[in-house]
Parts: sequence; C-alpha cells; structure tokens
Amino acid sequence: MSRPSHAVVLGGGLAGTLAAHALARHADAVTVLERDVLPEGPGHRRGVPQARHAHLLWSNGARVIDGLLPGTTDRLLAAGARRIGFQGDQVTLTVRGWQHRFEPTQFAILCTRPLLDWIVRDQVLRTGRVHLRQGVEAVELRGAHGRITGVGVRDGDGREGAVEADLVVDATGRASGLRHWLAALDVRPPEKDVVDAGIGYATRLFAAPPGATAAFPAVNVGAPHRPDEPAHFGVVYPVEDDRWIVTLSCTRGGTLPAHEDDFEAFARTRLGHPLVADLIGSVEPLTPVFHSRSGANRRLYPERHGGWPDGLLVVGDSLTAFNPVYGHGMSAAARCAAALDRELAAGADPASGGTRRIQAAIGAAVDDPWILAASKDAGYAGCRVDATDPRLVGEHTAQQRRFADAIIDKSLVAPQVCATVTGVISLSAGQAELGSSRFLSLMHRETSLPKPDGPPLSPEELDLVRLPAYRRVPSA
Ligand SMILES: Cc1cc2nc3c(=O)[nH]c(=O)nc-3n(C[C@H](O)[C@H](O)[C@H](O)COP(=O)(O)OP(=O)(O)OC[C@H]3O[C@@H](n4cnc5c(N)ncnc54)[C@H](O)[C@@H]3O)c2cc1C
Repeated sequence: MSRPSHAVVLGGGLAGTLAAHALARHADAVTVLERDVLPEGPGHRRGVPQARHAHLLWSNGARVIDGLLPGTTDRLLAAGARRIGFQGDQVTLTVRGWQHRFEPTQFAILCTRPLLDWIVRDQVLRTGRVHLRQGVEAVELRGAHGRITGVGVRDGDGREGAVEADLVVDATGRASGLRHWLAALDVRPPEKDVVDAGIGYATRLFAAPPGATAAFPAVNVGAPHRPDEPAHFGVVYPVEDDRWIVTLSCTRGGTLPAHEDDFEAFARTRLGHPLVADLIGSVEPLTPVFHSRSGANRRLYPERHGGWPDGLLVVGDSLTAFNPVYGHGMSAAARCAAALDRELAAGADPASGGTRRIQAAIGAAVDDPWILAASKDAGYAGCRVDATDPRLVGEHTAQQRRFADAIIDKSLVAPQVCATVTGVISLSAGQAELGSSRFLSLMHRETSLPKPDGPPLSPEELDLVRLPAYRRVPSA
C-alpha cells in the first residue's frame, strides 16, 4: 500500500476541515483550498450562509468529532455552548402532541455555527499537519485515463494556476461544481436522488433573559400536521453569550416572515402553540431576520459509478445534503471524515483502485441520516421526489409512514421507546434498530403515560423567562 503523497481538499467548511484532519494521518501532505478568506475567530463569511441559522450538533456527531479531535466538545462548552440532554432538556411539541421530558439518554451541543466552525478549524490547524490556502477557488479537476491528478485554481485577483495531487476530496458543499468538473473530463455525473420539501428558514438572535441560556430548556414547537398543507416549525436554542437563536421554518407553500415585524406574528399564528412567540415577545432582538431556502435532501452515488476516476472522493453536503430541520448535516460531515480515516487505516489505496471502496464506506456512513430525512420529507404536501432509492418510491412507503407515526406517538409517552428513537435520531444507533424484535416488543408492551396537555415546564423555569401565566393548576 502506498500513502497519498499530496491530498487536496476542496472547501474549508466543516466537512473539508474534518476530512483534511483525517487525511493528515495517512498522507504525506494535505492542503485545503478555500475560496473565502477565513475569519480569525468566530465570524460569518460568504461561503457558509447557513451559519446565520440555528444549528444543533447531535451526540453522535459530537462523539465522532471528539474521536478525531479530542477535547473539541470541552472547548465548545468552555466557550459558552450548551449541552442539552434529550429529551430532558428540550420542550417539544411534535405534530402529534407534546413530548414528555424523560431522563436524557442522548445529548446535543447548541451554539452558533461561527463558534463551532472556529473551534474545529483551530483544533485542526494547531496540529500543524494541514496547510490551509485561503482565497483560492477550485475551478476544475485535472486528470486523464481514469485518474485525477490535480485541480485548476483561481485566486482572488483572478490569477489562474494548478495544484497537483494524487487524491482530491470535494467538500465544496451544496453548490459544488462537481458535475460540471466531471463533464469537462468527459466523465458522466454520478446518479442523484432529490427529495425536496421546499423547506425555508427565517432566523433572528435575541438577548435571552438572565440565566435562561443555562437553565431554561431548548424549545422546539411544530404545528398539527394537516395533509395537503405546509408544515411549520419553530425553535428557540440557547447559544453562547446569553443569546437565543430563534429559527422559524416551513415546507413548500408556507410563507416565511419577511420582516422583523412579522417574526413574532408567524410564531404566534402558524405554530401549534404560542410558547415561542411568548418567549421572544418580551426580549430584545439583536439581529435582522436572515433567510435560507437551502433545505432540499440531495444525495449523489459516486460509489455506483462504473467509470468513477481514481483519486477523487466526495464528502459532506457536496455528497449528501439534508433538510436541516433534522440537524444531521454536521454529524454526517463528521461521519464522512471518520469513514475516510477508517478506510485509509485499513489499507485502502485511493491511487490504485481503493477510491470506490473508500467512497462506498463514506456513502454507508451517510445512509442513516439520508433515509431518516428523505423518507420523512417525502410525506409532506408538495414535496418533490426525483429518486430511485427504493425505500423512497416503493409501494410500501405509505405503510412505513404509518409505522413511523405510531413510533412517534409512542415515543412521546413511553420512556424506553423514546430512548431508542432518540438513539436513532441522534445517529447514535442505526435506524435498523427501529425494526428489531426488541424494539417491536417494546412498542407493544411498554406502558404509555398520559400525554402532556401543555408545555412541560417547571415553575422555576417559567419564572426565569417571566411566563408565570403558564403555571398549570395542579390536578386535585
Ligand atoms: C439553514 C440550514 C440549517 C442547518 N442546520 C443544521 C443543524 O442544525 N445541524 C446540522 O448538523 N447541520 C445543519 N445544517 C447542515 C450543515 O450546515 C452542513 O451540513 C455543514 O455545514 C457541512 O457542510 P459542508 O462543509 O459539507 O459544506 P459547506 O458548509 O457549504 O462548506 C463548503 C465550503 O467550501 C467552500 N467552497 C465552495 N466552493 C468552493 C470552491 N470552488 N473552491 C474552494 N472552496 C469552495 C465554501 O466557501 C465553504 O467554506 C444546516 C444547513 C442549513 C442550510
């Protein structure tokens, strides 16, 4: 087996940064080419516009990142991120009712994207094993005879050049030029599935009431699901510096709040409960409203491509992008890097036939988040499905959806079912777990508690956010 002598990663977002770190264990030299000039600390930039919106890093993603970069979660927490235990530290109204706040079995890390990106990047760069070239755009792949040999680049002043490499990893995100770059080399594009529920996001930051980011739960409120109508959601997440990030969203056909004035009204009228509106009604907004319409699930299948060139891999959103409502993109990016690391450690040689094997392992690593998001979205009114994945287009999909609804119903009120479902949603357990005989028997025999009839919040929590009127009269 030979080591790659120079691996080049296109894109210095989360997927590219983590992939570069994994490669640095196995290649003689690793370079990241990033189009933006990156901030020296937590900051926004053009190439990651989604960083304005609420982001949740599930426990599986956090563990995988810590496995690659020990100490990352601790640094995030020290910088003000919050570790939310699921389901204990979140108040959730699903489309099927309120969720009991059971003892947590999984967690998520909540902070702004600029903070998360900065800490991960700093963790990687301080190892000194990854060379970052900023302000350099990849404009083409170079190669011949079924092998990639480098990348054509352009700098901020328009100067063109080339970078030689025996392994190139595309991590340029949703807007990747991969299909065009392959076409220019006479390589047909990989197969693609798209499941697009037309999700849109509108987000603002607010100053949270004193103490609330540490002791008030995260909030996630949906609206009752009516077939043939758009779905609506709203989250209030605690983030560093005593702020709440509030994201309101809807599927195709819904109208997002366009201005600051409409924001609270949307939360009050479109969601299934006024909790989000009441929380933000008396706190100070810190930003305007930011919008995103980048929410389609889209997956490429390079591993199925008979003529896929040696020395080319695809990771992160460039490979599989998800409806962000499920919070899986960053964990998937981490899983891609871990799969790359595993395969290279096990001897796969991208220069001589190992590329397909590595790409297949990366594809397997994103399959669970893919099917969780795409199969759920395919049930929304107006969702556009252009896919060959038999799990999305087969005759049995309606039956699967009914089973999924039954699982959600039960997980709201039964702690062990909830623990299994949370394990799967957080990507800590495989989704096959939901078809296991252990789980099916649990669904059947676990006793259900009565459904909560309102947001399960304690008097102390309500005092923190100045909502005493929410106190419920104890039943006689
Ligand atoms: C609104 C929204 C909310 C989200 N919420 C969540 C969430 O709660 N939880 C979660 O886990 N995920 C979430 N995601 C997904 C998450 O943001 C991505 O999965 C994650 O950022 C990984 O992306 P990436 O690194 O693959 O691509 P990107 O973040 O898009 O990064 C691509 C990088 O490549 C650079 N680049 C692009 N083209 C070139 C080029 N030609 N040459 C050089 N550099 C280039 C860009 O500047 C950028 O730095 C959300 C996404 C959206 C849109």
